[in-house]
Amino acid sequence: MKSSWVFVGIILGILTGFFLPEFSKKIKIIGDIFLLLLKMLVLPLVIVAITGAIINLGSFDKLKKIGTFTVSMYFFTMFVSVIVGIFFIVLLDPSDGMKVVKNEFNVSTKTFDDFILSFFPSNVFKSIVDGNILQVIFFCTLVGIAILKVGREIEKVSYFFNYLFDVMMVLVRWVVSLTPIGVFSLISNMVANSGLDVFVSLFKYVISVVGGILFQGLFFLPLIIFLFTKHNPFVVIKNSISALLVAFSTCSSSATLPVSMEVCIDKIKLRKEIVDFVLPLGATVNMNGTALYEAVAAIFVASVFGIDLNFYQYFVISLTAVLAAVGAAAIPGAGLVTMSIVFSAVGIPLEGIGLIVVVDRFLDMFRTALNVWGDIVVAFIVDKRTNP
Ligand code: ASP
Repeated sequence: MKSSWVFVGIILGILTGFFLPEFSKKIKIIGDIFLLLLKMLVLPLVIVAITGAIINLGSFDKLKKIGTFTVSMYFFTMFVSVIVGIFFIVLLDPSDGMKVVKNEFNVSTKTFDDFILSFFPSNVFKSIVDGNILQVIFFCTLVGIAILKVGREIEKVSYFFNYLFDVMMVLVRWVVSLTPIGVFSLISNMVANSGLDVFVSLFKYVISVVGGILFQGLFFLPLIIFLFTKHNPFVVIKNSISALLVAFSTCSSSATLPVSMEVCIDKIKLRKEIVDFVLPLGATVNMNGTALYEAVAAIFVASVFGIDLNFYQYFVISLTAVLAAVGAAAIPGAGLVTMSIVFSAVGIPLEGIGLIVVVDRFLDMFRTALNVWGDIVVAFIVDKRTNP
């Protein structure tokens, strides 16, 4: 499926949402079906991909090496992303002369202990039913390692998982071929439902988040592709466009996972065992866009409340923004929920989240696209920097 068709879908979606809002609301069901089909594939794909990837890697040492490199790249890029965001918000000083409309927002708090505990499943079937990908990854990684440890008939087991993976990818390609019409419906409905007025009062805040995301996505991440691999990053962007547009329209890294895996395997031609391991993990752990968003939001709200932040508090915000991003589920609006971790760490009133909730969905489109782009970039670098 050509990414130019996805572009056409988005443009037509914007126009239809704007000029024919009633019609857009009526065809919402098409986008909903597309989203359900994507979500339907995520868990079977993750289970088959992660277990198969660990077996295909063939040894615990190799897994350790690739795993350590992957996770280090995730944290490195997320920290840079946060610093980029802080730079933009401090530069634009967005609270300057603004009127804010306060909105009600029910705050749910998450402690650091909750965050750590959320990695561990108590009942793996419940994790599957709840769609808790991180817990499923944890379990499948252990199963993969245990299969290697048992060591019997490894080739047959590996054949079995690779076969199932191919079956899943056929399903993925079918669903992916519906992308243009799916994004058309999702975008037109989103445009039909959103007013422009809310953006005016939060204009500089929105610009800080979007500017930071564009800088990170179009400058920093391409730069590290070039520095680490000497490949042309713009070819990688071009091949990734359809996944980024799906992320943009669905606001969900996990719903986009089947598409980003298809893109990395079919178009960018990365090694299957790398894609199978790096992307599912990245979809839930690596969130460049969410980390940036959380830091910018905390600094913005602090300045609206007249709280002067010192250097140490900026440091704490950076650290907790990364953790909050790691802890955020890969679904729409998740970043807003884990934001309480950042706010509590530096004593920003949690009601402040109500100030920014109106533009959350809009910013979610951009941050999810960056989250997915960050995963693809790390998969690309890991693929090129590790031996087959
Ligand atoms: N929607 C984002 C994602 O799925 C998470 C967030 O809310 O920041 O990647």
